[in-house]
Amino acid sequence: MHFTGTIYRNPYWPTFPLIQITQGCTHNRCKFCTMYKDVPFRMQPMEYIEADLKEIRSIEPRAKTIQLLSANPLAPIYRVLEPILKKIREYLPDLEYIYAATRVDDIRNKSVEELKKLKELGIKEISLGVESGDEWTLQRINKGYRPEDILEQCHKLDEAGIRYWLTFLNGVAGKSHSQEHAVHSAEIFNQTHPLLVGTGGLTLFPGTPLLLEAEKGEFDPLDEKEMLEELRLFVEHLNVDCYFVTHHTVSGKNLTGPNFLSRKEAILEALDHEIHHGDLKRMAAIRRNKQTL
Ligand code: SF4
Repeated sequence: MHFTGTIYRNPYWPTFPLIQITQGCTHNRCKFCTMYKDVPFRMQPMEYIEADLKEIRSIEPRAKTIQLLSANPLAPIYRVLEPILKKIREYLPDLEYIYAATRVDDIRNKSVEELKKLKELGIKEISLGVESGDEWTLQRINKGYRPEDILEQCHKLDEAGIRYWLTFLNGVAGKSHSQEHAVHSAEIFNQTHPLLVGTGGLTLFPGTPLLLEAEKGEFDPLDEKEMLEELRLFVEHLNVDCYFVTHHTVSGKNLTGPNFLSRKEAILEALDHEIHHGDLKRMAAIRRNKQTL
């Protein structure tokens, strides 16, 4: 198989087979990320894609799902994606689901009609690493789009019938804008129809601009208790029914599962319990030991 650099695969989707159709990340400038620092974006050569498809077919000829890589494989325009997806289907004719994690602004260069065609070709579910719905925060972390872009592109996905996940990056606004980050993100998410909302906590990895800023005193990271309080505020304001997943270092009961709205009170109670009685030192140690996003 031809993989380049870091492989990020969504652990909630089937982890085999995976196929790389692009390399690196078109943006590569988020201040908390170094995943593709040394991997310039480029299309994966078609001969590599075809060789990988042959290998996958030799192992699992009746594959029903496949996950596209790398960071944002849906960045190319429809005209470029179409032959790749057709080639994938030619080798794996039983495919029912093609999954992809990608950026919000990768949807911008596609019309609703093109998105519908992508769905017919198998792209039925995508994950968007939104991180925040707060204008200040998105600019601060150099995410490369604005809250209204999230709404505009998610509404196009709604219209095309492509299901999507949205992520909230707990802690990424630092202390100064923690409340705005939590409340405004929930407000933006509430205006969309995500299948799933996922939350992860910020870890300052070596080599990231955000860590350098923290070392210079220009970024004020939250401690574990403040992270939980911010997550609680986000949950309190989130009013969209969806599957809810948290990758916070806390392993509290009731945090992850379907039917968010009917479980919201239980999630808030679980978070309150962690805020007042959780082992914050252990959570900090787990975060320190994290190697990647
Ligand atoms: S977080 Fe995602 S979009 Fe941002 S630089 Fe990293 S891979 Fe690219």
